[in-house]
Amino acid sequence: MRACDHAPSARWTSVPAAVRAEFAADAAARAPREACGLVYGRIVDGVAEVVRYRALPNIAALPTRAFRIDPLATLAEPPAPEAGGEHCLGVFHSHPDDDARPSARDVAEAWPEHLQWIGAFDRAGRFELRAFAVVATPHGRTPRELPQLAAGRFRGSVTPADRPARA
Ligand SMILES: [Zn+2]
Repeated sequence: MRACDHAPSARWTSVPAAVRAEFAADAAARAPREACGLVYGRIVDGVAEVVRYRALPNIAALPTRAFRIDPLATLAEPPAPEAGGEHCLGVFHSHPDDDARPSARDVAEAWPEHLQWIGAFDRAGRFELRAFAVVATPHGRTPRELPQLAAGRFRGSVTPADRPARA
């Protein structure tokens, strides 16, 4: 697998509606188990631009409580991207019984140099998607949420202090 080069350098993310719908569909299909898979795209001007989602089996011992991606499954590269620059940015997983924030375990077990997208359905059945980078601080690892861009506007739960160059 190609390295997820410096994904934590991303300060924002954009998820196309089609990929967001794939996240939601996978989360719904696998509930009450956690859905999981790899997220591909590129980082442009600090924006982690998601292009594709590749759902993978959840091999956790308790898949209703956690997720684990089979390391062997990550060795098989997805089909070659049509245009250059696309690589693995990180991992998506769902929280069937919780909100879309990283659990203590998610923070502790986050892959280095990868971003996390977490999805959950609220009580009204709306799909909430949030994105995080786990960063090292003097007080330990902590999740930093990435604002989400959609069609040049921000959506999601955080408002950025500044804006990407191209927004
Ligand atoms: Zn989780």
